[in-house]
Amino acid sequence: MAIIVQKFGGTSIANAEKIRRAAERVIKTVKNGYQVVVVASARGKQTDELIADALELNPNPPKREMDQLLSTGEQQSVSLFAMVLDSMGYDAISFTGGQVRMLTTSDFTKAQIKSIDAERINRQLDQGKVVIVAGFQGIDEDENITTLGRGGSDTTAVALAAALGAKQCDIYTDVDGVFTTDPRIFKNAVKMKQISYDEMLEMASLGAGVMHNRSIAFGKKYDVKIHVRNSAKEIEGTIITHEVPQMEGVVVTGATIQKDMAKISLVGVDNVPGNAAKVFANLAKAKVIVNDIVQTEISPEKANLSFMIGISDLDAAKEAVDSIKSEIHCDSVFIREDIALVSVVGVGMRTHYGVAEKMFGALAKTKVNIDSITTSEIRISCAVDEDQAEKALEAVCVAFELDKPAEQRTKAN
Ligand code: ADP
Ligand code: ASP
Ligand code: MG
Repeated sequence: MAIIVQKFGGTSIANAEKIRRAAERVIKTVKNGYQVVVVASARGKQTDELIADALELNPNPPKREMDQLLSTGEQQSVSLFAMVLDSMGYDAISFTGGQVRMLTTSDFTKAQIKSIDAERINRQLDQGKVVIVAGFQGIDEDENITTLGRGGSDTTAVALAAALGAKQCDIYTDVDGVFTTDPRIFKNAVKMKQISYDEMLEMASLGAGVMHNRSIAFGKKYDVKIHVRNSAKEIEGTIITHEVPQMEGVVVTGATIQKDMAKISLVGVDNVPGNAAKVFANLAKAKVIVNDIVQTEISPEKANLSFMIGISDLDAAKEAVDSIKSEIHCDSVFIREDIALVSVVGVGMRTHYGVAEKMFGALAKTKVNIDSITTSEIRISCAVDEDQAEKALEAVCVAFELDKPAEQRTKAN
């Protein structure tokens, strides 16, 4: 019998009525002849509330204890889900991440999945049960509870789908699918029928919170068909899939906004071999995830080095940089915390010119200053003042006609 994994996000199971509605979807899938594995997030805003509780008691809580605490949100959801199914006459059993041996690294608050033991889940499925697994969490080799980072239940779901050889992974959320940009910010954004793994990975990594970025990496690697859809409606959502030829015709697929970022610039570093290596070795030791690294020679003797990080890593990054700055003769360190990244993404950029010009032109017209620019083969990102980020995103969306379905846009977009 084929397996389908169905993941329900926080808003989709926020109260008793919504959990019942989610359970009805599961039952419908069971009636259609599938074995179902449910992955549930913490209900409503519970993760945010738990974080607030922790910060009230300790502004800098130990990360291990944070994971121990945050994992309880999902644990409540899965048992409640199993109870609802039981009340509807269906056999169900709930598990924490640890109970299904979701083995992760020990990087608390941002652990990575190393392996999953599908055996326990398969045994329960074969007994005719719906299996409900807590999203977002695992255990490390010492049985410490870990979490996968905010939004990590998507990754639990896709990783389980891969480990179980599931036919499909449905991601039920509070929007109709993946839109050209965040529909909460740009009201005229349109839903896409499909998007490639590469574009979704890039969008998710650049702030499109609808999917956790690592879930897409899993999906691509293990060929998992992902369907992002609205838990409150019976309509098709967005399929995340391998690239299909007609996608090349569309230049820009989507735009994103990423806040809660900081940019660190090391100004006037000695221009000698090994200095960049020293800086990033220190940052790696502090487990800081670094993006958009730019190094420029400013004279034969000196270079500037800058990079972006998530704001939650700022203290660790500052410490890492401070401990190396005199050794590399850095003249000064310049930190911007009021910065956001606005990006456009599209595989069509590989074969089309003029995208950069259009993006910078749109920002100029709307009087948004660009702090720095970074590009990859399929994206262009501009760092801008955080308080201008929404305005910048809107201008870029209008310029690339992201308020229209791809087939209705001017050809150059
Ligand atoms: P869940 O709790 O279901 O995991 P999330 O809040 O994590 O839900 O993700 C859904 C939200 O992602 C939407 O409400 C939307 O505001 C936001 N979002 C950001 N970018 C996009 C996008 N490109 N398409 C759709 N939603 C997006
Ligand atoms: N509950 C976690 C969070 O809010 C994980 C998730 O929802 O995916 O980030
Ligand atoms: Mg989410």
